[in-house]
Amino acid sequence: MTAKLIDGKAFAEGLRGRIAGHVARLKSEHGITPGLAVVIVGHDPGSQIYVSQKAKQTVEVGMHSEKYELPEDTPEAEVLALVEKLNADPAIHGILVQMPVPPHIDGNKIITTISPDKDVDCFTPASVGKLQIGLPGPVSCTPLGCLMLLRDNLPSLAGLNAVIIGRSNLVGKPMAQLLLRENCTVTVAHSKTRDLPGIVAEADIVIAAVGRPHMVRGEWIKPGAVVIDVGINRIPAPDKGEGKTRVVGDVEFASAAERAAAITPVPGGVGPMTIACLLANTVTTASLINGLVPPRDLTP
Ligand code: NDP
Repeated sequence: MTAKLIDGKAFAEGLRGRIAGHVARLKSEHGITPGLAVVIVGHDPGSQIYVSQKAKQTVEVGMHSEKYELPEDTPEAEVLALVEKLNADPAIHGILVQMPVPPHIDGNKIITTISPDKDVDCFTPASVGKLQIGLPGPVSCTPLGCLMLLRDNLPSLAGLNAVIIGRSNLVGKPMAQLLLRENCTVTVAHSKTRDLPGIVAEADIVIAAVGRPHMVRGEWIKPGAVVIDVGINRIPAPDKGEGKTRVVGDVEFASAAERAAAITPVPGGVGPMTIACLLANTVTTASLINGLVPPRDLTP
């Protein structure tokens, strides 16, 4: 391996330390304790672990945390009523409803009911619009984390060719907005893209957000590129024992690391940054709700 390993776990730890400092200052100088409410409907074990991690880390940085675990059959109206209650609660500055919600609930209805001021996942149309025109507000957590890692590993992003593979509302599209703001030349590839290897070969920055194990081949990577692997894929791992699995990214790590200048591992790359950026967004919304300028190091 010749590439530098981008240690997202260590970066996220440092970021949480800075967030804790900002939280302490908001408390001591302004009497504000940023509050994050996470809502989960149903019993998906993966989502429950994720929500518990979010709640734990919220408390660790000194914020107020509320966790609502609702049964699978909770009527849509009840979830909407809870969101409305949290919208009106002055102790809460960020609301996150864990997606996906069960099929009898309209996820879009839930998202559009969240107050844009408290939309720490940057899902509402108002937040997406603000991101697009560069107004202050929360920024999609995973792309914000990717941007922080890129800035930490490149002296400047301006003028670089960035290729994002994936065009989801969650990752690909907001990532493209952020990189445009950084003056990258951005290409967004998707399942209908022709000649993906040729497009990736031109990229100084590759962001892979597809959800297909090892789809991006090492030989496609331009020597010296920075590779950010967002993918989280669980594959069988017979070497670990019968029925065991392991998590891998969208990029063929070993061969890509022979060509890239820097690369994120999976796990331990982008994943830890996502929750840290959720906390960063809660500091941002708590600041904005109270008429304060959000800390510069937590926003794009
Ligand atoms: P989506 O399924 O919403 O989007 C996947 C995108 O990949 C789509 O735009 C799709 O194209 C594109 N795609 C699919 N097949 C190909 C192909 N053969 N060639 C090129 N593009 C293709 O996924 P998400 O954006 O939500 O997530 C992507 C990955 O990132 C997943 O593995 C997810 O688990 C992971 N993830 C990780 C996070 C983290 O914290 N590390 C956070 C969020 C996601 P099209 O639009 O044409 O269908």
